[in-house]
Amino acid sequence: MQIQPVASHFINGEYVEDTSGTLIDIVYPATGEIIGRVYGATEAVIEQAITSAKRAQKEWAKTSGTERGRILRRAADIIRERNRDLSILETYDTGKPLSETLYVDATSAADALEYFGGLAGSLTGEHIPMGENWAYTIREPLGLCVGIGAWNYPTQISCWKGAPALACGNAMIFKPSETTPLCALKVAEILIEAGLPKGLYNVIQGLGDVGAKLVSDTRVDKVSLTGSVPTGRKVYAAAAEGIKHVTMELGGKSPLIVFDDADIENALGGAILGNFYSSGQVCSNGTRVFVHEAIKEKFLERLSARLGEAIIGDPLDETTNFGPMVSERQMKIVQDYIEIGKSEGARLICGGGRLDRDGFYLEPTIFADVRDDMTIAREEIFGPVMAVLDFTDETDVIARANDTEFGLSAGVFTNDLSRAHRVIAELEAGSCFINSYNDAPVEAPFGGAKLSGVGRENSKAAVEHYSQMKSVFVRMGDVEAPF
Ligand code: NDP
Repeated sequence: MQIQPVASHFINGEYVEDTSGTLIDIVYPATGEIIGRVYGATEAVIEQAITSAKRAQKEWAKTSGTERGRILRRAADIIRERNRDLSILETYDTGKPLSETLYVDATSAADALEYFGGLAGSLTGEHIPMGENWAYTIREPLGLCVGIGAWNYPTQISCWKGAPALACGNAMIFKPSETTPLCALKVAEILIEAGLPKGLYNVIQGLGDVGAKLVSDTRVDKVSLTGSVPTGRKVYAAAAEGIKHVTMELGGKSPLIVFDDADIENALGGAILGNFYSSGQVCSNGTRVFVHEAIKEKFLERLSARLGEAIIGDPLDETTNFGPMVSERQMKIVQDYIEIGKSEGARLICGGGRLDRDGFYLEPTIFADVRDDMTIAREEIFGPVMAVLDFTDETDVIARANDTEFGLSAGVFTNDLSRAHRVIAELEAGSCFINSYNDAPVEAPFGGAKLSGVGRENSKAAVEHYSQMKSVFVRMGDVEAPF
C-alpha cells in the first residue's frame, strides 16, 4: 500500500519538491508499513513559502470580507463532498478508526471554514463619538501567520488555524507534525480549487527545526502552535524575541468529577469518550477521573463491562471503534507510563498490554486507587490510560482537581444543577463540560488556562487572535498647540 502525496510541500498554489531535505517516512500506524515519503523543507523551500505568502497577503487584505468568506465556504462544501476520501486519508495519517474520522476530522475542518467564512464579512471596527471629534477603529490582519500542528487531528488543526487566519485577511504557512504530513496538503489543494488566490495557504513539511526556523523569521507576524508544553515553551520564547502574536494550544491532565447523584451510564460515556476516543490521544482528555466513593465499585464494574465492548481492529473497517497509537514512539511512551503506574501501586483494573498484532496497538487501560501524587495522575500520558481516583467531599475534590500545572479542560457529572455550576466556576480550566465531555463545536472558544495555553481557537474569540485594531482619532476643529 502506497499513499504517496504528489510532492512534499504546497507553495504558491502548487506542489513543490526538494529531495535534498530530511527524508521523513510516512508510517501507517495500523500495520507499521511505510506507505510514503516526504522531505523536510530546506532553506530554499522555507524562503519560497515566506516570499509567496508575504506577496499574496497584501492583495488578500484588500479584498472584502464577504469575498474572502465565500471562498472559505466553498472550500467547506468541497471538503464535505469528499469527506469519505479525506477521512480515509486521515486514517492512514493517524491510524484513527474510520468510524471516528468520518465524523470529526474533515467535518470539523469544514465547520471551521464555514463558520469563519460566514463571519468574515462582519469583521469590522467601530465608531467612537467624542463630542465634535471622533475616533474609529479598523480591524486589520496581522500579516503572515505560521501554524504548527500536532499529529492527533491533522485535518482539523490545519483548518482551526487556517480558517480564522484567512477570514481575517492573513496568509498562513502551516507545518504539520512530521508524523502526519498528508492531510494538510489536501486542504491546501482544496482551498485553491475553491478559488483562494495562490500563496495564501502554504504547507511545508519538516521536523521541529523547520518550525523553529519559521517562528524565528522576522517576516512572520504570528505563531499558532498545537503541541506539548515543552515545545510550547520553546516556541513562545522564540516568538517573544520578535514580540510576535501567539496562540498556544498545549497539553493537559484534566479532571472529570463524577458525583454520586450522576447518571452513571452518562458519566461512563463521558469518561470513555474522554479517555479512549482516538486511542486517548486528545489534549483535552479527562484523564483524572474522580469518582465519588459511594459509586466507585459500581462505576469500575460497569466501566470494565463497557470496555469489553470495544471493537479493536483494522481502522478502515467501519465497525472498529478503537485503533492503534499514532506511532511506535508514542506507544512506547504510553507503555512506560503503564509500568510506572503498576510500580507506584495503582490497581490495574483492565488492559495494560500491547496487542499481539502488527501496528501500534495498546489495550484500553484503567487504573483505580490512583493517588494524587502518582506519576500517572500528574503527567500527561497521551494514550488510552484512565486513572480513577476516589473522593467524598466537594471542596476537597475541587482543590485536588486544581492541583495541577495544566488547565485545559474539566468536566462534572451530577444531577444537582446548582452544584454543577458551583463546581465548574471553581475549576481552573479553559474548556469545561457539564454532564458531557470533549465536545468542541466551532461556535465555542477552545483553549487552556495555566500551562495549557494562551489564546483561544474557534468562535468569535479566535478573531481577536488573528487581527489587530488600528485606532484613528479624527479632530474636526482646529488644533490648539502651546506655541
Ligand atoms: P510536539 O510538541 O512534540 O510537537 C508539536 C509540533 O511542534 C510538531 O509539528 C513539531 O514538529 C513542532 N516542533 C517541535 N519542536 C519545535 C520547535 N522548537 N519549534 C517549532 N516547532 C517545533 O507535540 P506532538 O506532536 O507530540 O503532539 C502531542 C501534544 O500536543 C500533547 O502534549 C497534546 O496535549 C498537545 N495537543 C494539544 C492540543 C490543544 O488544542 N491544546 C490538541 C492536540 C494536541 P515535529 O513533529 O517534527 O516534532
